Amino acid sequence: MVTANRAGAVLTIDLNSISANYRFLRNLAAPAKCGAVVKCDAYGLGLKPIAKTLAEEGCNIFFVATPDEAFELHTELKKFERKFSIYMLNGLGSHGIEVCNQYISPVLNSLKDIEIWSAYCSRTVSAHPAIVNFDTGISRLGLDKTETVKVLNDHSLLGSISIAYVMSHLACADEPEHPLNLQQNQKFKNIIDNLCGRHLSSLSNSAGLFLGKDYHFDMVRPGAAIYGIGCTSSDRKNLNPAITLKGEILQTRIIDRDSTVGYGAEGVVKKSSRIATVSLGYGDGLFRQLGNKGYGFIEGHRVPIIGRVSMDLVTINVTDLPETKCYAGKMVEFIGVHQSVDELAENAGTIAYEIITAFGNRLFRKYVGG
Ligand SMILES: *Cc1c(COP(=O)(O)O)cnc(C)c1O
Repeated sequence: MVTANRAGAVLTIDLNSISANYRFLRNLAAPAKCGAVVKCDAYGLGLKPIAKTLAEEGCNIFFVATPDEAFELHTELKKFERKFSIYMLNGLGSHGIEVCNQYISPVLNSLKDIEIWSAYCSRTVSAHPAIVNFDTGISRLGLDKTETVKVLNDHSLLGSISIAYVMSHLACADEPEHPLNLQQNQKFKNIIDNLCGRHLSSLSNSAGLFLGKDYHFDMVRPGAAIYGIGCTSSDRKNLNPAITLKGEILQTRIIDRDSTVGYGAEGVVKKSSRIATVSLGYGDGLFRQLGNKGYGFIEGHRVPIIGRVSMDLVTINVTDLPETKCYAGKMVEFIGVHQSVDELAENAGTIAYEIITAFGNRLFRKYVGG
């Protein structure tokens, strides 16, 4: 049995924060509906507990990326005996059709997807309506320019399928001033108009939701904001942090000024120093890029990481802290009230999304609230 104490490092996820964030976003989006993006194991936080929490909050539109994720989510949501929609953002791929049922349907990203889906619908009366995705500028998934023109000139290409929404996806929503936001919004409106407003529509992720009413359409698709990360720092002030990451101090030692710390002898000190070694490493998701760069916190005091981060360990310089605050068994916070995921990510040269989806399997996951 893994317990918090034996694991060495603890990832705490506050389900009450997740609920509160979802409620906040739903109110902000109203009268548009608010779906929830739970792809990649709910951004690394655990698909089952997160989906359960959101379902209890009344969410009934869910987005995953892959067929496997859709299947796993359906297994969890079945328990609620309610009508749910599960959409697969990555489309049908080669095997997606196998998991489709009255709850699971694809986001159709190409004419090929539409063709496969039409054939499926013609032999399946209970097919869940699908979403048609038009690429308006991210050049990643969705009907491209040529395919979009084809569909707009011949609506019968969509004729035989039942459509829940038409959608598109913003490339730069986290930069509110970026001109691509308005361009994509306008292109998307033109598509909706051309289709005679026959379909419900969806454009925005978390950051798009914060761009205002003109970006809400009929449904929004936040992921990050539900987990309290990403968006702009001012928008994030409205969200509740949900994640705490702490590692246990295993040993402390005094080193003299000629000593170095860690692999490659890259941790150097200017004077005799006290070093604490913490049970948390890149294998747990503490990025190597934080070596000699990032920080931990002990009782609110900032302590710098010294030397490289290794697989199971990180060393911190605790010279400026009294010994009474820093001893074997003490927990060091790397994400929590003193340092947000976004702040840690910035020191690691990445984004909060990458930090939380990289949390390691070894971490003891503790769910509170809910
Ligand atoms: C991942 C994803 C989202 C959610 O994005 P966030 O920035 O996490 O809110 C929404 N829509 C699509 C198409 C996505 O791929």
